[in-house]
Amino acid sequence: MSLYRKYRPQTFASLLGQDHLREVIQNAVRQDKVSHAYLFTGPRGTGKTSTARLLARVINCTQVKQAEPCNSCEICREALGESLTDVIEIDAASHGLVEDARDLVERAKFLPIRARKKVYIIDEVHMLSKSAFNALLKIIEEPPYHVHFILATTEAHKVLDTIRSRCQHFDFHLASDDLIQMNLETVCEREGIHPQSDSLRLLAEQARGSFRDALSLLEQLIGIGDFTVVDVQQTLGLSQELVVRQFFDALLRGDHASALTLIQELHDQGSDLYQFCQAFLGCLRGQLLQGVFVVLPWIDHFYHALDQLRDPIIARLPLELAVMKCIPSTPAQVTHSPTPVAVMKECAPVRTVAHEPVSAVEKTKSVSQQSGEVAVFNPDSFLSLIQHVSLRSLIKHADLNFSEQELKITARNQFEMDKIRSKDNLSQLHEALKRLVGGEPTLSLEVADLAPAQAKGVSSGDISSVF
Ligand SMILES: [Zn+2]
Repeated sequence: MSLYRKYRPQTFASLLGQDHLREVIQNAVRQDKVSHAYLFTGPRGTGKTSTARLLARVINCTQVKQAEPCNSCEICREALGESLTDVIEIDAASHGLVEDARDLVERAKFLPIRARKKVYIIDEVHMLSKSAFNALLKIIEEPPYHVHFILATTEAHKVLDTIRSRCQHFDFHLASDDLIQMNLETVCEREGIHPQSDSLRLLAEQARGSFRDALSLLEQLIGIGDFTVVDVQQTLGLSQELVVRQFFDALLRGDHASALTLIQELHDQGSDLYQFCQAFLGCLRGQLLQGVFVVLPWIDHFYHALDQLRDPIIARLPLELAVMKCIPSTPAQVTHSPTPVAVMKECAPVRTVAHEPVSAVEKTKSVSQQSGEVAVFNPDSFLSLIQHVSLRSLIKHADLNFSEQELKITARNQFEMDKIRSKDNLSQLHEALKRLVGGEPTLSLEVADLAPAQAKGVSSGDISSVF
Protein backbone atom coordinates (compact mmCIF):
# COMPACT_ATOMS: atom_id res chain seq x y z
CA MET A 1 0.00 0.00 0.00
CA SER A 2 1.31 3.47 -0.84
CA LEU A 3 2.41 5.65 2.04
CA TYR A 4 -0.20 8.23 1.10
CA ARG A 5 -3.00 5.70 1.45
CA LYS A 6 -1.45 4.16 4.56
CA TYR A 7 -1.20 7.52 6.31
CA ARG A 8 -4.39 9.08 5.01
CA PRO A 9 -5.85 11.12 7.90
CA GLN A 10 -8.47 8.98 9.65
CA THR A 11 -9.79 11.70 11.93
CA PHE A 12 -10.42 15.42 11.57
CA ALA A 13 -7.83 15.97 14.28
CA SER A 14 -5.14 14.46 12.07
CA LEU A 15 -6.15 16.47 9.01
CA LEU A 16 -3.19 18.81 8.64
CA GLY A 17 -3.11 22.31 7.26
CA GLN A 18 -6.85 22.78 6.80
CA ASP A 19 -7.88 24.12 10.19
CA HIS A 20 -10.19 26.69 8.61
CA LEU A 21 -12.58 24.13 7.21
CA ARG A 22 -12.15 21.45 9.83
CA GLU A 23 -13.77 23.61 12.51
CA VAL A 24 -16.71 24.52 10.30
CA ILE A 25 -17.36 20.91 9.28
CA GLN A 26 -17.05 19.56 12.82
CA ASN A 27 -19.39 22.25 14.12
CA ALA A 28 -21.93 21.20 11.52
CA VAL A 29 -21.55 17.58 12.69
CA ARG A 30 -22.03 18.62 16.32
CA GLN A 31 -25.17 20.56 15.48
CA ASP A 32 -26.42 17.86 13.12
CA LYS A 33 -26.44 20.40 10.32
CA VAL A 34 -24.18 18.72 7.80
CA SER A 35 -24.87 20.24 4.40
CA HIS A 36 -26.30 18.07 1.64
CA ALA A 37 -23.84 19.36 -0.94
CA TYR A 38 -20.21 20.33 -0.53
CA LEU A 39 -17.71 21.56 -3.06
CA PHE A 40 -14.06 20.97 -2.14
CA THR A 41 -11.59 22.85 -4.32
CA GLY A 42 -7.83 23.21 -4.13
CA PRO A 43 -4.52 21.90 -5.46
CA ARG A 44 -3.86 18.18 -5.68
CA GLY A 45 -2.63 16.35 -2.62
CA THR A 46 -4.07 18.79 -0.10
CA GLY A 47 -6.58 16.36 1.41
CA LYS A 48 -9.84 16.88 -0.50
CA THR A 49 -10.62 13.20 -1.02
CA SER A 50 -9.41 12.28 2.47
CA THR A 51 -11.73 14.90 3.93
CA ALA A 52 -14.62 13.71 1.76
CA ARG A 53 -14.16 10.16 3.02
CA LEU A 54 -13.88 11.36 6.60
CA LEU A 55 -17.07 13.32 6.19
CA ALA A 56 -18.83 10.31 4.65
CA ARG A 57 -17.81 8.24 7.69
CA VAL A 58 -18.79 10.78 10.30
CA ILE A 59 -22.20 11.15 8.60
CA ASN A 60 -22.80 7.42 8.89
CA CYS A 61 -20.81 6.31 11.95
CA THR A 62 -23.00 4.79 14.64
CA GLN A 63 -20.75 5.95 17.47
CA VAL A 64 -19.66 9.48 16.62
CA LYS A 65 -17.63 11.00 19.43
CA GLN A 66 -16.65 14.67 19.54
CA ALA A 67 -17.57 15.09 15.92
CA GLU A 68 -15.13 12.36 14.86
CA PRO A 69 -15.98 9.00 13.27
CA CYS A 70 -15.15 6.14 15.65
CA ASN A 71 -13.40 4.18 12.85
CA SER A 72 -14.27 0.96 14.66
CA CYS A 73 -18.03 0.42 14.27
CA GLU A 74 -19.15 -1.87 11.47
CA ILE A 75 -20.10 1.00 9.19
CA CYS A 76 -16.76 2.78 9.73
CA ARG A 77 -14.83 -0.43 9.14
CA GLU A 78 -16.68 -1.12 5.92
CA ALA A 79 -16.14 2.46 4.79
CA LEU A 80 -12.42 2.22 5.61
CA GLY A 81 -12.24 -1.05 3.67
CA GLU A 82 -13.97 0.74 0.78
CA SER A 83 -16.71 -1.90 0.78
CA LEU A 84 -19.57 0.25 2.08
CA THR A 85 -21.93 0.38 -0.87
CA ASP A 86 -23.64 3.51 0.42
CA VAL A 87 -20.52 5.59 -0.04
CA ILE A 88 -20.18 5.93 -3.77
CA GLU A 89 -17.00 7.38 -5.23
CA ILE A 90 -17.19 8.50 -8.81
CA ASP A 91 -14.32 9.70 -10.94
CA ALA A 92 -15.83 12.26 -13.25
CA ALA A 93 -12.84 11.98 -15.54
CA SER A 94 -14.04 8.53 -16.60
CA HIS A 95 -17.75 8.82 -15.74
CA GLY A 96 -18.56 12.33 -16.83
CA LEU A 97 -21.14 11.67 -19.48
CA VAL A 98 -24.75 12.75 -19.30
CA GLU A 99 -25.80 9.07 -19.22
CA ASP A 100 -23.69 8.54 -16.10
CA ALA A 101 -25.28 11.57 -14.46
CA ARG A 102 -28.81 10.41 -15.27
CA ASP A 103 -28.01 6.97 -13.93
CA LEU A 104 -26.71 8.53 -10.72
CA VAL A 105 -29.88 10.60 -10.32
CA GLU A 106 -32.04 7.49 -10.73
CA ARG A 107 -30.05 5.42 -8.24
CA ALA A 108 -29.84 8.20 -5.70
CA LYS A 109 -33.58 7.97 -5.19
CA PHE A 110 -33.24 4.52 -3.57
CA LEU A 111 -32.66 4.38 0.15
CA PRO A 112 -29.21 3.41 1.48
CA ILE A 113 -28.64 -0.29 2.08
CA ARG A 114 -26.39 -0.45 5.14
CA ALA A 115 -25.81 3.07 6.35
CA ARG A 116 -28.07 5.95 7.37
CA LYS A 117 -27.15 8.08 4.41
CA LYS A 118 -25.88 7.67 0.88
CA VAL A 119 -22.82 9.79 0.20
CA TYR A 120 -21.74 10.51 -3.36
CA ILE A 121 -18.13 11.65 -3.67
CA ILE A 122 -17.54 12.98 -7.18
CA ASP A 123 -13.85 13.54 -7.83
CA GLU A 124 -12.51 15.79 -10.59
CA VAL A 125 -16.03 17.15 -10.92
CA HIS A 126 -14.86 19.75 -13.45
CA MET A 127 -14.57 16.88 -15.96
CA LEU A 128 -18.34 16.40 -16.07
CA SER A 129 -19.76 17.41 -19.42
CA LYS A 130 -22.05 20.41 -19.42
CA SER A 131 -25.10 18.26 -20.03
CA ALA A 132 -24.03 15.97 -17.17
CA PHE A 133 -23.76 19.01 -14.91
CA ASN A 134 -27.23 20.07 -15.95
CA ALA A 135 -28.64 16.62 -15.29
CA LEU A 136 -27.25 16.79 -11.75
CA LEU A 137 -28.38 20.34 -11.00
CA LYS A 138 -31.78 19.57 -9.60
CA ILE A 139 -30.74 16.74 -7.32
CA ILE A 140 -27.82 18.74 -5.97
CA GLU A 141 -30.14 21.65 -5.34
CA GLU A 142 -32.69 19.52 -3.52
CA PRO A 143 -31.15 16.17 -2.63
CA PRO A 144 -33.39 13.56 -1.03
CA TYR A 145 -32.99 13.54 2.76
CA HIS A 146 -30.89 10.38 2.60
CA VAL A 147 -28.32 11.74 0.12
CA HIS A 148 -25.21 13.90 0.51
CA PHE A 149 -22.97 15.09 -2.33
CA ILE A 150 -19.31 15.92 -1.95
CA LEU A 151 -17.82 17.33 -5.14
CA ALA A 152 -14.06 17.72 -5.39
CA THR A 153 -11.90 19.43 -7.98
CA THR A 154 -8.52 20.97 -8.58
CA GLU A 155 -10.03 23.41 -11.04
CA ALA A 156 -12.66 25.43 -9.25
CA HIS A 157 -13.09 27.88 -12.12
CA LYS A 158 -14.41 25.09 -14.37
CA VAL A 159 -17.31 24.27 -12.05
CA LEU A 160 -20.53 25.88 -13.28
CA ASP A 161 -21.74 28.76 -11.12
CA THR A 162 -25.12 27.08 -10.88
CA ILE A 163 -23.50 24.08 -9.15
CA ARG A 164 -21.17 26.17 -7.06
CA SER A 165 -23.99 28.29 -5.69
CA ARG A 166 -25.81 25.17 -4.51
CA CYS A 167 -22.90 23.80 -2.51
CA GLN A 168 -21.09 24.77 0.63
CA HIS A 169 -17.69 25.62 -0.79
CA PHE A 170 -14.35 24.96 0.93
CA ASP A 171 -11.02 25.89 -0.54
CA PHE A 172 -8.13 23.62 0.47
CA HIS A 173 -4.76 25.30 0.96
CA LEU A 174 -1.28 24.16 0.04
CA ALA A 175 0.59 23.15 3.15
CA SER A 176 3.64 25.03 4.40
CA ASP A 177 7.06 23.40 4.12
CA ASP A 178 7.18 23.26 7.94
CA LEU A 179 3.93 21.33 8.14
CA ILE A 180 4.95 18.91 5.41
CA GLN A 181 8.30 18.35 7.10
CA MET A 182 6.48 17.65 10.37
CA ASN A 183 4.26 15.14 8.63
CA LEU A 184 7.26 13.46 6.99
CA GLU A 185 8.97 13.23 10.39
CA THR A 186 5.91 11.53 11.87
CA VAL A 187 5.69 9.04 9.01
CA CYS A 188 9.44 8.25 9.18
CA GLU A 189 9.14 7.72 12.92
CA ARG A 190 6.31 5.25 12.39
CA GLU A 191 8.21 3.53 9.60
CA GLY A 192 11.19 3.20 11.94
CA ILE A 193 13.67 5.25 9.92
CA HIS A 194 15.59 8.34 10.98
CA PRO A 195 16.72 10.42 8.00
CA GLN A 196 18.65 13.68 8.46
CA SER A 197 16.30 16.52 9.21
CA ASP A 198 17.85 18.57 6.36
CA SER A 199 16.98 15.79 3.94
CA LEU A 200 13.33 15.86 5.06
CA ARG A 201 13.37 19.62 4.65
CA LEU A 202 14.56 19.22 1.10
CA LEU A 203 11.84 16.64 0.41
CA ALA A 204 9.24 18.97 1.90
CA GLU A 205 10.40 21.81 -0.34
CA GLN A 206 10.21 19.58 -3.39
CA ALA A 207 6.61 18.62 -2.57
CA ARG A 208 5.49 22.23 -3.11
CA GLY A 209 2.66 22.16 -0.61
CA SER A 210 1.25 18.73 -1.42
CA PHE A 211 1.17 16.08 1.30
CA ARG A 212 0.62 13.44 -1.34
CA ASP A 213 3.66 14.44 -3.37
CA ALA A 214 5.77 14.57 -0.22
CA LEU A 215 4.85 10.99 0.66
CA SER A 216 5.36 9.76 -2.91
CA LEU A 217 8.85 11.29 -2.83
CA LEU A 218 9.50 9.71 0.56
CA GLU A 219 8.45 6.38 -0.88
CA GLN A 220 11.27 6.56 -3.40
CA LEU A 221 13.79 6.97 -0.58
CA ILE A 222 12.43 4.84 2.21
CA GLY A 223 14.25 1.73 0.98
CA ILE A 224 17.59 3.44 1.68
CA GLY A 225 16.75 3.67 5.38
CA ASP A 226 18.28 6.65 7.22
CA PHE A 227 18.82 8.67 4.06
CA THR A 228 20.81 11.88 3.71
CA VAL A 229 20.51 15.11 1.75
CA VAL A 230 22.76 13.70 -0.93
CA ASP A 231 20.57 10.58 -1.18
CA VAL A 232 17.60 12.84 -1.77
CA GLN A 233 19.46 14.84 -4.35
CA GLN A 234 20.64 11.76 -6.19
CA THR A 235 17.38 9.86 -6.03
CA LEU A 236 15.30 12.80 -7.12
CA GLY A 237 17.89 13.90 -9.63
CA LEU A 238 18.23 17.33 -8.10
CA SER A 239 20.85 19.52 -9.62
CA GLN A 240 24.05 20.81 -8.11
CA GLU A 241 22.24 24.10 -7.66
CA LEU A 242 20.32 22.61 -4.77
CA VAL A 243 23.41 21.28 -3.05
CA VAL A 244 24.92 24.71 -3.39
CA ARG A 245 21.83 26.24 -1.88
CA GLN A 246 21.85 23.83 1.05
CA PHE A 247 25.48 24.66 1.65
CA PHE A 248 24.83 28.38 1.48
CA ASP A 249 21.86 28.07 3.85
CA ALA A 250 24.00 26.14 6.32
CA LEU A 251 26.71 28.84 6.28
CA LEU A 252 24.13 31.56 6.64
CA ARG A 253 22.66 29.80 9.64
CA GLY A 254 26.12 29.54 11.15
CA ASP A 255 25.60 25.79 11.11
CA HIS A 256 29.10 24.53 10.38
CA ALA A 257 28.20 20.95 11.33
CA SER A 258 25.71 20.73 8.45
CA ALA A 259 28.10 22.44 6.05
CA LEU A 260 30.91 20.03 6.94
CA THR A 261 28.59 17.03 6.67
CA LEU A 262 27.57 18.17 3.22
CA ILE A 263 31.21 18.38 2.14
CA GLN A 264 31.85 14.91 3.52
CA GLU A 265 28.82 13.52 1.69
CA LEU A 266 29.90 15.12 -1.59
CA HIS A 267 33.35 13.67 -1.10
CA ASP A 268 32.02 10.21 -0.21
CA GLN A 269 29.77 10.24 -3.26
CA GLY A 270 32.76 10.99 -5.46
CA SER A 271 31.51 14.44 -6.48
CA ASP A 272 33.98 16.88 -7.99
CA LEU A 273 34.75 19.27 -5.13
CA TYR A 274 36.53 21.73 -7.42
CA GLN A 275 33.45 22.03 -9.55
CA PHE A 276 31.29 22.38 -6.46
CA CYS A 277 33.50 25.16 -5.14
CA GLN A 278 33.28 26.96 -8.48
CA ALA A 279 29.48 26.72 -8.42
CA PHE A 280 29.42 27.96 -4.85
CA LEU A 281 31.54 30.99 -5.75
CA GLY A 282 29.02 31.73 -8.48
CA CYS A 283 26.27 31.62 -5.87
CA LEU A 284 28.22 33.95 -3.56
CA ARG A 285 28.79 36.39 -6.40
CA GLY A 286 25.04 36.43 -7.03
CA GLN A 287 24.40 37.22 -3.38
CA LEU A 288 27.00 39.97 -3.36
CA LEU A 289 25.47 41.63 -6.39
CA GLN A 290 22.14 41.53 -4.58
CA GLY A 291 23.69 43.50 -1.73
CA VAL A 292 24.28 40.68 0.73
CA PHE A 293 27.63 41.99 1.88
CA VAL A 294 28.04 39.42 4.61
CA VAL A 295 29.36 37.08 1.89
CA LEU A 296 32.27 39.36 0.95
CA PRO A 297 34.88 37.66 3.19
CA TRP A 298 33.43 34.25 2.26
CA ILE A 299 34.32 34.86 -1.37
CA ASP A 300 37.96 35.33 -0.32
CA HIS A 301 37.96 32.12 1.69
CA PHE A 302 36.39 30.01 -1.07
CA TYR A 303 38.57 31.60 -3.74
CA HIS A 304 41.53 30.46 -1.74
CA ALA A 305 39.94 27.00 -1.33
CA LEU A 306 39.41 26.77 -5.08
CA ASP A 307 43.09 27.41 -5.63
CA GLN A 308 44.04 24.73 -3.10
CA LEU A 309 41.56 22.26 -4.63
CA ARG A 310 43.63 22.08 -7.80
CA ASP A 311 46.13 19.92 -6.00
CA PRO A 312 44.90 19.14 -2.51
CA ILE A 313 46.84 17.00 -0.06
CA ILE A 314 43.59 16.02 1.64
CA ALA A 315 40.75 16.30 -0.83
CA ARG A 316 38.16 18.06 1.26
CA LEU A 317 40.40 20.04 3.61
CA PRO A 318 40.38 23.30 1.58
CA LEU A 319 36.58 23.45 1.71
CA GLU A 320 36.51 22.53 5.38
CA LEU A 321 38.98 25.29 6.20
CA ALA A 322 36.92 27.78 4.24
CA VAL A 323 33.82 26.78 6.22
CA MET A 324 35.62 27.24 9.52
CA LYS A 325 36.87 30.66 8.44
CA CYS A 326 33.36 31.72 7.42
CA ILE A 327 31.77 30.59 10.65
CA PRO A 328 33.64 31.60 13.76
CA SER A 329 32.82 28.77 16.11
CA THR A 330 33.57 29.98 19.62
CA PRO A 331 30.86 28.55 21.86
CA ALA A 332 29.72 31.96 23.11
CA GLN A 333 28.93 33.17 19.62
CA VAL A 334 27.10 30.01 18.72
CA THR A 335 25.02 30.05 21.88
CA HIS A 336 24.04 33.68 21.61
CA SER A 337 23.23 33.77 17.94
CA PRO A 338 19.59 34.30 17.15
CA THR A 339 17.72 31.28 15.83
CA PRO A 340 19.16 30.92 12.38
CA VAL A 341 16.97 30.86 9.33
CA ALA A 342 17.53 30.08 5.72
CA VAL A 343 16.50 33.46 4.44
CA MET A 344 17.37 32.85 0.83
CA LYS A 345 14.94 30.70 -1.08
CA GLU A 346 17.03 30.87 -4.20
CA CYS A 347 20.69 31.54 -4.50
CA ALA A 348 20.30 34.30 -7.03
CA PRO A 349 17.59 36.85 -6.27
CA VAL A 350 17.13 37.87 -2.70
CA ARG A 351 14.88 40.38 -1.08
CA THR A 352 17.03 42.60 1.07
CA VAL A 353 17.68 46.20 1.93
CA ALA A 354 20.98 45.61 3.68
CA HIS A 355 23.50 48.26 2.84
CA GLU A 356 26.16 47.42 5.34
CA PRO A 357 28.34 44.33 5.64
CA VAL A 358 26.86 43.34 8.97
CA SER A 359 24.92 40.34 10.15
CA ALA A 360 21.51 40.52 11.77
CA VAL A 361 22.98 40.53 15.25
CA GLU A 362 25.53 43.19 14.50
CA LYS A 363 22.93 45.34 12.84
CA THR A 364 20.61 45.04 15.82
CA LYS A 365 23.33 46.20 18.15
CA SER A 366 24.55 49.06 16.03
CA VAL A 367 21.09 50.43 15.36
CA SER A 368 19.84 50.20 18.90
CA GLN A 369 23.04 51.69 20.25
CA GLN A 370 22.87 54.73 18.03
CA SER A 371 19.71 56.22 19.44
CA GLY A 372 18.27 59.11 17.53
CA GLU A 373 19.17 57.70 14.14
CA VAL A 374 16.57 56.51 11.66
CA ALA A 375 16.10 52.77 12.15
CA VAL A 376 16.89 50.46 9.26
CA PHE A 377 14.48 47.59 8.72
CA ASN A 378 15.76 44.52 6.95
CA PRO A 379 13.03 41.88 6.41
CA ASP A 380 15.53 39.03 6.34
CA SER A 381 17.14 40.10 9.58
CA PHE A 382 13.70 40.45 11.10
CA LEU A 383 12.87 36.89 10.06
CA SER A 384 16.11 35.62 11.53
CA LEU A 385 15.17 37.11 14.90
CA ILE A 386 11.87 35.23 15.08
CA GLN A 387 12.37 32.17 17.22
CA HIS A 388 9.44 29.94 16.30
CA VAL A 389 9.59 28.15 12.98
CA SER A 390 5.84 28.26 12.35
CA LEU A 391 5.57 31.97 13.09
CA ARG A 392 8.62 32.65 10.95
CA SER A 393 7.00 30.79 8.10
CA LEU A 394 3.78 32.82 8.46
CA ILE A 395 5.71 36.09 8.47
CA LYS A 396 7.80 34.98 5.51
CA HIS A 397 4.60 34.81 3.47
CA ALA A 398 3.25 38.10 4.73
CA ASP A 399 3.97 41.53 3.32
CA LEU A 400 6.14 43.68 5.58
CA ASN A 401 6.09 47.43 5.47
CA PHE A 402 8.16 49.47 7.88
CA SER A 403 8.03 53.20 8.20
CA GLU A 404 8.26 55.71 11.04
CA GLN A 405 8.85 53.05 13.67
CA GLU A 406 5.76 51.12 12.66
CA LEU A 407 5.82 47.69 11.08
CA LYS A 408 2.70 46.85 9.10
CA ILE A 409 2.29 43.10 8.58
CA THR A 410 -0.16 42.20 5.83
CA ALA A 411 -1.14 38.57 6.15
CA ARG A 412 -2.29 36.72 3.05
CA ASN A 413 -5.61 35.81 4.58
CA GLN A 414 -7.70 35.88 7.73
CA PHE A 415 -6.65 32.38 8.72
CA GLU A 416 -2.99 33.29 8.74
CA MET A 417 -3.70 36.56 10.50
CA ASP A 418 -5.54 34.74 13.27
CA LYS A 419 -2.48 32.55 13.71
CA ILE A 420 -0.12 35.51 13.72
CA ARG A 421 -2.06 37.49 16.25
CA SER A 422 -2.04 34.98 19.06
CA LYS A 423 -0.70 36.59 22.23
CA ASP A 424 2.58 34.66 22.26
CA ASN A 425 3.28 35.40 18.63
CA LEU A 426 2.61 39.10 19.02
CA SER A 427 4.99 39.50 21.90
CA GLN A 428 7.61 37.53 20.00
CA LEU A 429 7.20 39.74 16.94
CA HIS A 430 7.35 42.85 19.04
CA GLU A 431 10.47 41.64 20.77
CA ALA A 432 12.16 40.82 17.44
CA LEU A 433 11.22 44.21 16.01
CA LYS A 434 12.51 45.98 19.08
CA ARG A 435 15.82 44.16 18.83
CA LEU A 436 16.12 45.01 15.18
CA VAL A 437 15.19 48.66 15.07
CA GLY A 438 15.58 49.72 18.69
CA GLY A 439 13.36 52.27 20.47
CA GLU A 440 9.65 51.60 20.95
CA PRO A 441 8.41 50.39 17.58
CA THR A 442 4.75 49.49 16.98
CA LEU A 443 3.13 46.67 15.06
CA SER A 444 -0.06 46.61 13.08
CA LEU A 445 -1.77 43.71 11.36
CA GLU A 446 -3.78 43.73 8.19
CA VAL A 447 -5.37 41.13 5.94
CA ALA A 448 -4.62 41.33 2.22
CA ASP A 449 -7.27 39.09 0.86
CA LEU A 450 -10.36 37.45 2.21
CA ALA A 451 -11.51 34.33 0.45
CA PRO A 452 -15.31 33.89 0.70
CA ALA A 453 -15.09 30.63 2.62
CA GLN A 454 -12.96 32.23 5.27
CA ALA A 455 -14.76 35.51 5.71
CA LYS A 456 -16.07 35.68 9.21
CA GLY A 457 -17.42 39.16 9.48
CA VAL A 458 -14.10 40.90 8.96
CA SER A 459 -14.09 43.35 6.14
CA SER A 460 -11.24 43.52 3.67
CA GLY A 461 -8.52 45.84 4.75
CA ASP A 462 -9.47 45.59 8.38
CA ILE A 463 -6.58 46.83 10.44
CA SER A 464 -6.19 46.01 14.06
CA SER A 465 -3.51 47.86 15.91
CA VAL A 466 -2.04 45.62 18.47
CA PHE A 467 0.59 47.62 20.22
ZN1 LIG B 1 -18.00 4.44 13.49
